[in-house]
Amino acid sequence: MIPVLRCLFLCLLALPAPAQAKPWSAQGPLHGPPGEAERYAAAKERLQGPGERRALAEKSVAELKVIARKYPAEAAVHHWLGVALRIAGKLDEARHEQDEALRLQPGCYEAHMELGRILRLEGSDEEAIPSFRTSLEICEDTGRGHIEIAITELRRGKYAEASSAVAEGLSAHPDNPNLNVLGSLLYGTRQAFAACPEPAVADTEHFHVASNTTKFQADRMGLQLERIHKLYEEALPDVKTDGRRIGVVLFDSAEQFKACGLPEGVAGVYLPDLQTLFLAWNPVEHDMLIVAYHEAFHAFLDYALQGAPHWLNEGLADYFGAFKWDDKSGQFLHRVNWWRLDTVQEMVRANVGTPLPQFLVAQSMYGKNAGLNYAQAWSLVWFMKKYKAGKYSMTLRFYFQALMRGETLAQAWEKSFGKLDMAEFTEEWKKFTLEAQKPIGAASVPGLHK
Ligand SMILES: [Zn+2]
Repeated sequence: MIPVLRCLFLCLLALPAPAQAKPWSAQGPLHGPPGEAERYAAAKERLQGPGERRALAEKSVAELKVIARKYPAEAAVHHWLGVALRIAGKLDEARHEQDEALRLQPGCYEAHMELGRILRLEGSDEEAIPSFRTSLEICEDTGRGHIEIAITELRRGKYAEASSAVAEGLSAHPDNPNLNVLGSLLYGTRQAFAACPEPAVADTEHFHVASNTTKFQADRMGLQLERIHKLYEEALPDVKTDGRRIGVVLFDSAEQFKACGLPEGVAGVYLPDLQTLFLAWNPVEHDMLIVAYHEAFHAFLDYALQGAPHWLNEGLADYFGAFKWDDKSGQFLHRVNWWRLDTVQEMVRANVGTPLPQFLVAQSMYGKNAGLNYAQAWSLVWFMKKYKAGKYSMTLRFYFQALMRGETLAQAWEKSFGKLDMAEFTEEWKKFTLEAQKPIGAASVPGLHK
């Protein structure tokens, strides 16, 4: 989301681990079969970290198959092999491995959860729900089962059932940020669409827009999102789309969106769990598109790099967010992000902010300095893309590619920034940032408060 404070959508990716495995858990007691602990841990970690998930999952499949042959009685190995197979798109085999895990350990609540996910991917939404329920009966876990049920109900168009799954989850986990955001959006969407039994729909190549506005407005949003999507693809050719459409819930007005009750300053949201954007129509199209371009970028990156470092995700989202479509040339005008510029210039002048070597390897940038961090992240992306006709653009690309290959943040750093003279890089960044000018006439900051 476009934020000054924080971008809640990313909290949805960072689910806390179960505090303590109550019944038998595939996360818990088994640290890896003796003699294979390292390979086992790496195969599991690859499935949960950033990277191009499908390609990485193939590697984990190969390794876990070897381990499963050596230790056929280890339920956890079968469970994780099943997870890898599901991500790799091999659903029949994935189901077989979860069945095997449950045969060995009937109390493995994660295997029940996985079976639900597999059934949902196969389109058997109705059968998926009992699997999630069984998982919850064995272990309440972190609220994940409630979210899975809500997502499944939403796929079936059952808003009331989805809401009650979220309410049930919140009564057990009142502080779970994922459940809170999902609950707020569900509430707001139901209210806004109550008087609109047949939403306006626009299907484009990469988006499915459903709106309680007019068909014209849904089409218009679809058109603008397609334009920026094309630019994302040109700018990041390593990201491959997978044929699915990104959902878009388009509210008739900012007031309707606000009625969801999300934190002040939030003007749009991307929910990875639903692969859906929540946006509001704004008669000032320019203001609306600042939010849409930012949020849609999160959805685009989610094709390929789940769990991307925040500076990269937010910096790129803000980079595209400031662009403007030019009807005359049929191209985007690349513009300085004016609502971040003052902050980062003040930061450079005062010589505060996180030194770049630390900033660039931190996974999270939210928290009390979020406003500064957003500005710094945007300015780094802008600098690396634009300085001296892209002097550092390949560094950014090598970093991105290393992450997509599933390398750690430290390894990705070594392949890219680690090859630079960071003192020189920092000085050039500071000078370039201080010289940046706001685009003429661009002043509004919709939905944001300073
Ligand atoms: Zn964001």
